[in-house]
Amino acid sequence: MLKRIPPNILHDIQTLNEYTATSGKESTLTACSRSNRLFTAGAGGGDGGSVESLSCDQRFGKAERKMDVHTHPHNPSAVGLLPSQADLAVTLSESKTNNTKQISCISNKESPLIVCSEAKRVPTQARVNEYVDHEIDSGEFYKSEFHRKNVRKDFNTAYFNPQTGEKVKPSDEQVLNTMFGASVQTIKEENTKHEREKLCKYVNSMSGTKKSVTNKCKQMLSDNKE
Ligand SMILES: [Zn+2]
Repeated sequence: MLKRIPPNILHDIQTLNEYTATSGKESTLTACSRSNRLFTAGAGGGDGGSVESLSCDQRFGKAERKMDVHTHPHNPSAVGLLPSQADLAVTLSESKTNNTKQISCISNKESPLIVCSEAKRVPTQARVNEYVDHEIDSGEFYKSEFHRKNVRKDFNTAYFNPQTGEKVKPSDEQVLNTMFGASVQTIKEENTKHEREKLCKYVNSMSGTKKSVTNKCKQMLSDNKE
């Protein structure tokens, strides 16, 4: 995992953030390495809810794919910077294709942190397929036992300061504000207590954080009547 996001990449991330804050659409960049230097070698815009994954554009010269960064829009119906199941499947798939561990980061202008997930190893194709097969593409994604059990085995997660690019050790509250973005009120309104507790355990696994995040999450999502 990176110790810090290099200034040139951070600058390009801030440009993606601005694009997404203005358009409400996702956008992505791919960072590649040549002579031990990371540079942006491809960028694109997505739609409201997803974005494609790009290779190193060969017009920038021969380079090795190392990481990608994409944005999630900040709005009440989107779950903040919580990595989607498709995001993780793509990270593994790119690691397999490029035969080197990939780092995938998620950002937007409003979040207190940038979150990055790194594949712990180059996966087998069978492992990539398992992640693809277990994707739940609905509001019930948090019921995935597969992800609760496996994400920590396959990914390292790290958090970065979006102004300086430094790797940070965030508080539980900062992690949750990053993961949920503007959706806390919507989640409270649309889910039963039992569902919210399940969601909290899921977020704990997907964010690669310590157990205390689950309890903080339950507090944050409780409607004061409980
Ligand atoms: Zn995503």
